[in-house]
Parts: sequence; C-alpha cells; structure tokens
Amino acid sequence: MSTQESTPRVVLKVSGESLQGQRDSGIDSASLNDIARQIVECRNRGVEIGVVVGGGNLFRGRLASQLGMAEATAHYAGMLATIINGLALQDAIEAAGGEVRTMSALQVRQVSEIFIRRRALRHLEKGRIVLCVGGTGNPYVTTDTAAALRGIELDADQLLMGKHGTDGVYTADPATHPDARRYARLNYREALQQNLGVLMDASALALCEEHSLPIVVFNIETPDAIVSTVIDGPNLEQAGTRVDHGDTLLAG
Ligand code: UDP
Repeated sequence: MSTQESTPRVVLKVSGESLQGQRDSGIDSASLNDIARQIVECRNRGVEIGVVVGGGNLFRGRLASQLGMAEATAHYAGMLATIINGLALQDAIEAAGGEVRTMSALQVRQVSEIFIRRRALRHLEKGRIVLCVGGTGNPYVTTDTAAALRGIELDADQLLMGKHGTDGVYTADPATHPDARRYARLNYREALQQNLGVLMDASALALCEEHSLPIVVFNIETPDAIVSTVIDGPNLEQAGTRVDHGDTLLAG
C-alpha cells in the first residue's frame, strides 16, 4: 500500500444552518471563518478533507414549493444556494491559508469546476481541500444524499455530519422529552427502523449502510469541534454519535 492510500480521508457535511450562526438566515462571517480555519487546520494536520456544503440558510426547495414554486425548480434553486455558500467558504478557506477547489454537481463554469470523481481524488491526494457544491445535481433529495454519495465515491474513512443545535442522536427530541438519552453508538438498521430524521435522510443513511461508511454526528457549534472530531476522533462518552454496523449503545 502506498503512503497516499494510508492518509486518513474524511468527508465533512457543513449544513447551511451552521454557516448562519445565530442569524435567522444568510451567512454569519464569524461562523464561516471559524469553520474555514478548522478545515484548514485538519488539512495541515495531515487529513485529506472533502466538504459537502448545504444551502438551507439561503433556500430550501421544500419550503419554496409549498409557497407555489414548481417543486423541481425550487430544488434546483436550493442547489444553487449551496454553490453560493461554497463560494463563501472557498474564499474563507483561502484567507485561512488553505488550498481549495470547488467542484459542482451543476455546471456553473465561471465559478467552479464540474465534479469529476477522479479529478476530485487527485485534488485530495495533492493536499487540496475539495468543496463539493450543487448537491447531487438532482432535485427531490438533499445534501445529506450528496454527502453520503461523495463520502462513498471518494472512499472516505468516515462521514462527519456537523449539526447545529444538537450534539448527537437521541432516543427522542430532548427539547420535548427531558428523559431522552443520547446514542453513543447506533446501528444503521436501528437508525433506519426508528426513522431518526435528525441524523440524515433515510435514503442517504441506507447508502451509508450499504457501503459501510461510518457516520459521526457532532455539534459543529462546540468550539474547535471539527478539529477535535477529525484529529482525535469523537469522545463518545461526552458527546456525539457514531453510526455503523456495530451494536447500539446508549451514553452514560
Ligand atoms: N437540493 C436538491 N438536490 C440535492 C441537494 C440539495 O434538490 O442533491 C436542494 C433541496 O431543495 C434542499 C436545498 O437544495 O432543500 C438545500 O440543501 P439542504 O436542505 O440539504 O441544505 P442543508 O440543510 O444542509 O443546509
């Protein structure tokens, strides 16, 4: 095995919500810059890193279609929103000293490369951070599916799902169920059966299960959470949830 093959590689999902910080929508520059700084630090510490960027802070297809927009068109608008976020993150990563390539599932040739798997792999091997924008390029799904697909096709060791407002997957919504307990480990099958939407879309989860891609859910708002999760691994006694083929285990 070559040295290149043994370099750790992760795909990180950054939702639109995590870019909006405490704002109601849009991009909060402090949150953006902090996420960019952490991504660059992970790369500098030897981890190949692909990032799948969400768009929910700017546009959500489902909501727009409820307001009367044709559903497929609304989803395409959502995908364009992920490109806007990606451009903001690209510049913030460069400002933090990282080398980055933005690759889109939709053709927007003036601002990004088109996503080509083998080219993305080459960028990663050369130490570049790869921002995957434009979702999957298809309507009716979300960037969770894009994250699962990119994680699998880029042969990531794990898919990191940075969440806003929760530090893991719980047995029930802790906001309404004070006795809810956090899963430290969660089996894919159980997550699917229990329809744990907080984790990711069922179709995306099924893809991860089929291809044995471990998922780590963590709170992206915790200071330095990306760096500590990527470099040290999640401290599942304290926070976070790891989803894989293993046995389900409650925290505490
Ligand atoms: N979207 C889509 N296909 C994709 C990815 C995203 O149609 O492959 C649309 C969908 O309408 C979604 C919007 O883009 O609501 C923004 O993405 P998402 O909601 O996943 O962003 P996040 O919640 O991660 O911020």
